[in-house]
Amino acid sequence: MVVAIDGPAGAGKSSVARALAEKVGFSYLDSGAMYRAVARSLVDRPGDAGERARDVDIRLGDRIKLDGRDVTDQIRTPDVSEAASRIATDPRVRAALVVKQRELVKEGDWVAEGRDIGTVVAPDAELKIYLTASPEERAQRRAKDLGAPDWRVVLRDQTLRDQQDEQREHSPLRAAPDAIELDSTDRTLEDVVTQIAGLVRDRRGG
Ligand code: C5P
Repeated sequence: MVVAIDGPAGAGKSSVARALAEKVGFSYLDSGAMYRAVARSLVDRPGDAGERARDVDIRLGDRIKLDGRDVTDQIRTPDVSEAASRIATDPRVRAALVVKQRELVKEGDWVAEGRDIGTVVAPDAELKIYLTASPEERAQRRAKDLGAPDWRVVLRDQTLRDQQDEQREHSPLRAAPDAIELDSTDRTLEDVVTQIAGLVRDRRGG
């Protein structure tokens, strides 16, 4: 079974997806880490983004490995966030990473998180969640995670990334027609995870 969790940056997807996977005993796919790893690879070694996305070896898990090298910390910098969002507009990059993502989720039970899981990577996912939160709350959460002193600066970067993700020509960020929209503003992580775990149980039983 695949649970797709899509939504904008800072909606709480990673925390929710990771905690949900743990709770229901599914594997966890962080598709954004793949875009970040390709962006990071291009910083180290400039080249054609589409070819790199196809050729690079990305291992996900507690640590993220790029061609055998641990890049877990390097892929979370603001520069790499921006570069990842930029290369994610390239249809060849998307096509290459979608192949890798489909390969992973084709067997077993997965909680897969990203922007296009329910629309492109796993359109047949048994459960699709579109997770949102107010822009201010999303920026405040991310500022806390990043240890950034001023969440308004984070809000500015976030607005730019949201626009890039929503307005790109290929696989723009949008909810799948059959996705359940959940607004996590003013809700605890536990509350959201418990609700989705209930939906997983319903779908499995039904
Ligand atoms: O989710 P995360 O912030 O790590 O993703 C980094 C960037 O990768 C996003 O801003 C988005 O542009 C891109 N992305 C994407 N499709 C996905 C996952 C991430 O375009 N499925």
